[in-house]
Amino acid sequence: MPNAPAPPDVAPPDVPRRLLDWYDRHRRVLPWRAPPGAVADPYRVWVSEVMLQQTTAAAVANAFEGFLARFPSVEALAAAPIDQVLHAWQGFGYYARARNLHRAAGVVAARGGRFPDTEEGLRALPGVGAYIAAAVAAIAFGRKATVVDANVERVVARLFAIRTPLPTAKPAVRSATATLTPDDRPGDFAQAMMDLGATICTPRQPRCIICPLQPACLASAEGIAAVLPAKLPKPERPLRHGVAFWLRAPDGSVLLRRRPAEGLLGGMMEVPTSPFRAEPWQPADALAVAPLAADWQLLPGIVTHGFTHFGLEIRLFAARADDPAPELGSWSAVARLGEHALPTLMKKVVRHALAAEDGVRQAPAPHRARAAATRRASAAPAPAGQRR
Ligand code: SF4
Repeated sequence: MPNAPAPPDVAPPDVPRRLLDWYDRHRRVLPWRAPPGAVADPYRVWVSEVMLQQTTAAAVANAFEGFLARFPSVEALAAAPIDQVLHAWQGFGYYARARNLHRAAGVVAARGGRFPDTEEGLRALPGVGAYIAAAVAAIAFGRKATVVDANVERVVARLFAIRTPLPTAKPAVRSATATLTPDDRPGDFAQAMMDLGATICTPRQPRCIICPLQPACLASAEGIAAVLPAKLPKPERPLRHGVAFWLRAPDGSVLLRRRPAEGLLGGMMEVPTSPFRAEPWQPADALAVAPLAADWQLLPGIVTHGFTHFGLEIRLFAARADDPAPELGSWSAVARLGEHALPTLMKKVVRHALAAEDGVRQAPAPHRARAAATRRASAAPAPAGQRR
């Protein structure tokens, strides 16, 4: 019979001290972090935490300073037009976050630029949920708050050997994290847990041998660290279908329009697009929702895109408009499309349309093809028996 795993020889109460000692020596330098001993700026902490939702720290690190250079204070963010904010948000996706960021900046600016300093007060801001409120309260205001992101979830599930799969285990992980959070330096403790999860207690192959919490870790003692946290299988993503309309004016400019403020990609610019639905669009259905009646031609190929909850396939129709009517939307020169807040999906649509147009230009036109075929036929030797 295999030996029972040895119990950890440091009780969980020692975890905060061990972790903070390690953090003081090995903390990551991140652009939104205050240097050791300095007071964190709630604006920087809040912006970074919103960016870090669904985006890697490396991607945020690259873009954070650029965003802060454009909007150096909460007042500057509040005063900026939403289009500028959405444009600066390109690459992060989940544009509802940018719209909420802008709305919340307006609320804070109206309070004289002072952020609420409690979890409850922060949660009243648009787009601020339990996680961001706890993170800002702890890191920027030194409040004892339970901060649980994906890194913390993994570390705690392993420390306590919680075998229940996520997300069912979330309440247990949260309670366990709360028991560890110290009264002193709760913000540093939260960041230390994040750093440990990002650098040592990684999803695959946790490096228990150099981990400061190894003596207290049940999963390490039981040899099951690499398989925790268990996760329920994700439900399969449904597939939806849409159609986009690539419309050129006589001067070559392209029709764009703004999506409704609420909902998927709300407030972003788009190449006019049908609703996304479960059934593929037949040409007759599709042209019924085109921005205008025209000689629409189906372009070859499909644009594919993955949203969190569904996959999407888009077919493109292209046409020329005789009259670039302003009520249809805004007309943009192709060279200036990059100045618009186009989400990644729409950038794919634009690339696809331009590539399809190039293909058409490079293919022989029908009359040229016929003439070339005639020339080839007359130059070719006639079959035997037909020579004149
Ligand atoms: S000992 Fe291993 S499993 Fe436990 S917290 Fe450290 S790295 Fe993670």
